[in-house]
Amino acid sequence: MAVRTLSMTDSLHAYLLGANEPLPPVQQRLRDETALLPQGGWQISAEQGQFMAFLVKLTGAKHCLEVGVFTGFSSLVVAQALPPDGTILALDVSEEFTSVARRYWQEANVTHKIVLRLAPATQTLAKLADSPENHAAFDFAFIDADKPNYDSYYESCLTLLRVGGLLLIDNVLWAGKVADPTITDADTMAFKNLNAKIATDERVDRCMVPIGDGVTLCRKR
Ligand code: CA
Repeated sequence: MAVRTLSMTDSLHAYLLGANEPLPPVQQRLRDETALLPQGGWQISAEQGQFMAFLVKLTGAKHCLEVGVFTGFSSLVVAQALPPDGTILALDVSEEFTSVARRYWQEANVTHKIVLRLAPATQTLAKLADSPENHAAFDFAFIDADKPNYDSYYESCLTLLRVGGLLLIDNVLWAGKVADPTITDADTMAFKNLNAKIATDERVDRCMVPIGDGVTLCRKR
């Protein structure tokens, strides 16, 4: 009987993907196009996208916030999991990468669900948090952007989520570097510090899950 998560070999990963429903063709094409980019490794894994879509449906989320869009796979899977009146406010700084995202959102007929704000997310989030009517306006949030700003994104998302809302934070295991005390670069330290903070943060129920590069799920109390 295993007492911890399995190591994910290539063959076991292929089996896992085969055991899940295949991705819709539009999602697979977006993944294939993104994989050709030098930054292709930035996109979340297919099974993580499926997990997020499942969580959106499970929680009945309607209004979502995405910090870091890249080429749009996570926003596409979330948009397709949302009900017809669901929305995503998507934050990014890259015209180049989000132009890929917009093509696939259009192809999947979810453009009407997604509002893209091209500006530094710290600014957009601060502006949103300035207006009390935005507090508790979101049911679901996903952070997957520049790592040193994660703590700031975390605080803003907590303000903007409703009680019971779900926040997902990506890359929290950071390729295993968080467990190595000798690694102290800025990105790794951002994760070490944020992970330690969340571990005792009484504002949330939380669970770190070893999917993809590690995802922390926080439920706002
Ligand atoms: Ca990521």
